[in-house]
Amino acid sequence: MAMTFTLNNGVTMPALGFGVFQTPPDETVAAVETALRTGYRHIDTAAAYGNERQVGEAVRRSGLARSEIFLETKIWISDYGYDATLHAFDKSAGKLGVEQIDLLILHQALPGRFELTVDAYRALETLLGDGRVRAIGVSNFMREHLDKLRKETSVVPAVNQIEIHPYFTQPDVLAADAEHGILSQAWSPIGGITFYRDSGHTSTLEDATIARIAQEHGKSPAQVMLRWGMQHGRSLIPKSTNPQRIAENFDVFDFELTTEELAAIDALDTGVRGGPDPEAVTLETFGLNIPEA
Ligand code: NDP
Repeated sequence: MAMTFTLNNGVTMPALGFGVFQTPPDETVAAVETALRTGYRHIDTAAAYGNERQVGEAVRRSGLARSEIFLETKIWISDYGYDATLHAFDKSAGKLGVEQIDLLILHQALPGRFELTVDAYRALETLLGDGRVRAIGVSNFMREHLDKLRKETSVVPAVNQIEIHPYFTQPDVLAADAEHGILSQAWSPIGGITFYRDSGHTSTLEDATIARIAQEHGKSPAQVMLRWGMQHGRSLIPKSTNPQRIAENFDVFDFELTTEELAAIDALDTGVRGGPDPEAVTLETFGLNIPEA
């Protein structure tokens, strides 16, 4: 199993990253330091998470060279627009304390204001051209958003970060990503969103099929879900603040699921998303002030 991905512009990204959504700022330094000690070299944060500063602090405290760590962050919708998004880069880079961001993505499409989304993406293209970011991409983009973006911009997104776990696999978006040469990156790769969202299904951690497969391999349900995503060729960014689980989620390189096991997990898809409907995201309902650095 490859330990890295080569993105569509040649940049290398670690296969398994570390997420910090809902990690409180006062726990983020410890969580990220633990992750870096464990061996993770890719951190996924976002302007909207309010913890970029702490991610940057952990990177500095780790003693690792900046070039050894792949930093990904996201522009929030409130900062869309060409100039606003250029400035949003300064805010994120300032908080992270870095000159260059490895992967900068748009957090959501704004379907009702797609021209703003396009302007934001054009700013990412400028930042890429200037070398201030090494790769650019999107998140929560559906097939039609990718199609519309492609018509108006020139750089194909390197990644599309979307909700993917055994209960929601979005085959149509995965196919659209593949058609465009975009790497699909799974958020909630162990189904975190199913733990607290009432989507008509229970937590993926309590799934009987996943539990059976986990038992057969002497691994945990979380490890089986990560291995499943990995063998499907997806980028993964599991989140934890617990040192034991941070280590557990990284210990997924020493076993292999069979074709039958992969298919059994694929069959768990309910078609019901846990996160917000990407079509319903508007500035009015999801707007958020992103502070200056
Ligand atoms: P995950 O699938 O990573 O699950 C996280 C949850 O699982 C937490 O409650 C965590 O609790 C728990 N957990 C972690 N490891 C284990 C384990 N081994 N066994 C049992 N429970 C475990 O969900 P997230 O929603 O956090 O998604 C991961 C990342 O994806 C985010 O952190 C963020 O970076 C990104 N994301 C992006 C979104 C977007 O719109 N682009 C939306 C949502 C997430 P504990 O911390 O206590 O271990």
